[in-house]
Amino acid sequence: MLTKRPDQYRQLIKEVNDAVYTVDVASGVFTSVNKAAERMTGYTKKELLLMPFPQILVSEYAPLVKQMIARKVKRNTPTVYEIEIVRKDGSVVPVEVSSRLIKNEGKPEIIGIARDISERKNIERQKEIFVSLLTHEIKNPLTTMSMHLQMLEKLHKHMTEGRAYTSISALRLQVQSLNNLMNDFLEVNQLALGKFSITKTRYSLDSLVDDVIHAFPKQKHTILKQGELSIHVHADKNRINQVLYNLISNAIKYSPDAKEIIVSITKKNKQVTVSVKDFGVGIPKEELKHMFKLFYRTKYAQNSNTRGHGLGLYIAQQILLSHKGKIWVESEVGKGSTFSFSIPVDSKRKKQK
Ligand code: ADP
Repeated sequence: MLTKRPDQYRQLIKEVNDAVYTVDVASGVFTSVNKAAERMTGYTKKELLLMPFPQILVSEYAPLVKQMIARKVKRNTPTVYEIEIVRKDGSVVPVEVSSRLIKNEGKPEIIGIARDISERKNIERQKEIFVSLLTHEIKNPLTTMSMHLQMLEKLHKHMTEGRAYTSISALRLQVQSLNNLMNDFLEVNQLALGKFSITKTRYSLDSLVDDVIHAFPKQKHTILKQGELSIHVHADKNRINQVLYNLISNAIKYSPDAKEIIVSITKKNKQVTVSVKDFGVGIPKEELKHMFKLFYRTKYAQNSNTRGHGLGLYIAQQILLSHKGKIWVESEVGKGSTFSFSIPVDSKRKKQK
């Protein structure tokens, strides 16, 4: 074991890729550094051992580091934070620091490990550029195209056939599908950044279900509604609407030869469950466990002509998690699927009629 072999332990610290150092709390001066600390800062061990720790920090991080050290002296819990250091040649390196307070011959010292996170930061920056590119260079023109398309549709509103009608309809389909993809993509990005927010209000689930059903144009499928209809929930209306909309569009998309879709509402143990049942292609047993993973599409979806990107169910699951709810699926190949989600009923509301 390492603790029983101090020499090996010392050797390991000397050789590891992360900078390992100790700093005297009273003076702020480095008291020991390993090879990686020399490589990371560009200074020699000799230079570093004379240097106060704040000297290698990008100045705006000095207060944060001071605060972290003070906190550690008060309560010695391990902390991890990100800062930037200035190398001897003036270049800046982002590092992640984990540190702890120790005693060296009675004197308090900070022992720290600093990891170069340049690569991670670069990827994050590239992702930000990519998202901003998508937002400005694609989403904005798409919105403008959508507006012009609406105008064209108004001008030709009595048209039911002909070349212009076919072109406008085709354009509408493409613009809509690109728009949906953009929105889903940006939403997944918000989720990854932890910027996903919900705003809860009290409302009747029944009217929400009606609104969503009516948002679908009357086509081949009839969407039926059944179950307990007077339940109120305390939830984010737009988000729950988004979940249900996604489930019904999937039910339509993946049951091309069926005529019916059934939406049912049930209540049990202070939870309300909304289920969307279709009589479509179904999902093989071995694929069920992947259904809510990001970008997952079943083999059927990949091999058939159905459009999609495997983002909707992932987003739906995140929405439900943020409501302390859940989402699941039951399915049988060739018979159809039932996607259900449940959220708590509104417990604060007085007894419902
Ligand atoms: P998308 O439909 O855009 O690909 P989703 O995240 O909404 O994305 O769905 C992920 C995948 O789950 C789909 O690609 C499809 O393979 C499968 N799926 C979703 N709903 C159904 C359904 N009602 N019947 C069969 N397969 C479904």
